Amino acid sequence: MAAGWFGRRSKAKAMESVPEGIATKCGGCGEIIFAKDLDRNMQVCLKCGHHHRLSARARLAITVDEESLVEYDQDLVPGDPLAFPDYLAKQAAAEAKSGLRDAMVTGIATIDGLPVSIGAADFAFMGGSMGSVVGEKVARAMERGVEKRLPVVIFSASGGARMQEGLVALMQMAKTSAAVARLQAAGLPFISVLTDPTTGGVFASYASLGDLILAEPGAIVGFAGRRVGNQDLGTHLPANFQSSEFQLEHGMVDRIVPRKDMRPTLAYLLSFLSPEETHGR
Ligand SMILES: [Zn+2]
Repeated sequence: MAAGWFGRRSKAKAMESVPEGIATKCGGCGEIIFAKDLDRNMQVCLKCGHHHRLSARARLAITVDEESLVEYDQDLVPGDPLAFPDYLAKQAAAEAKSGLRDAMVTGIATIDGLPVSIGAADFAFMGGSMGSVVGEKVARAMERGVEKRLPVVIFSASGGARMQEGLVALMQMAKTSAAVARLQAAGLPFISVLTDPTTGGVFASYASLGDLILAEPGAIVGFAGRRVGNQDLGTHLPANFQSSEFQLEHGMVDRIVPRKDMRPTLAYLLSFLSPEETHGR
């Protein structure tokens, strides 16, 4: 105990002397890591392998072929259907923090030369919550898949439905699920990638409907978290409850893919899931 205490104390002291932005504390092992080392390693800790969250733009940058992304619907902005207190101010703060108009970036790009309709969520924008804009962008990404005969890949990261939009947010669950069904009826694949965290209304709708569901290691994945689960059930849930690994064991996730393997894994899957006519494009 004593050694651990001194260890933590000296680390905290070390943190105080490091200028902000140069180093950060790993969310997994608690070690101090230089930002440039994390940048070089796709924000994965070199010591413990903890996968730190990525912005939507950083995610797309490490996933698609360079300069291949054509973004769609970037100017869609949410309304304030309930005149919810402070919602407009929160949107403005989230926009300043993330550089995005809402929590989802979508478009068409190629991965290893194969075209896809793709999307990535950004947790930094109001916890990646799904309101009218996220739902609409996901639905349109599916519709573009149908229209252009493309597979769809969506990276999710979300605390769930956006409570400030009430029923309008909850409606996105049905809308996105119906859009996935239309894509699948057209014989086109949807690869859903769950990243930390994918919970609530996003987990309970389109994110769980992939033909293939991949997840990053150690991500929180599930409808409600351990705290709510323990409260509801009045019991203690297993240590890995609502993690990618737990969902893999229980059949909700098909494969756990470390970040460095994600792009080659998607390229491999697309090489035989893509409709034949897209191969030569
Ligand atoms: Zn670590």
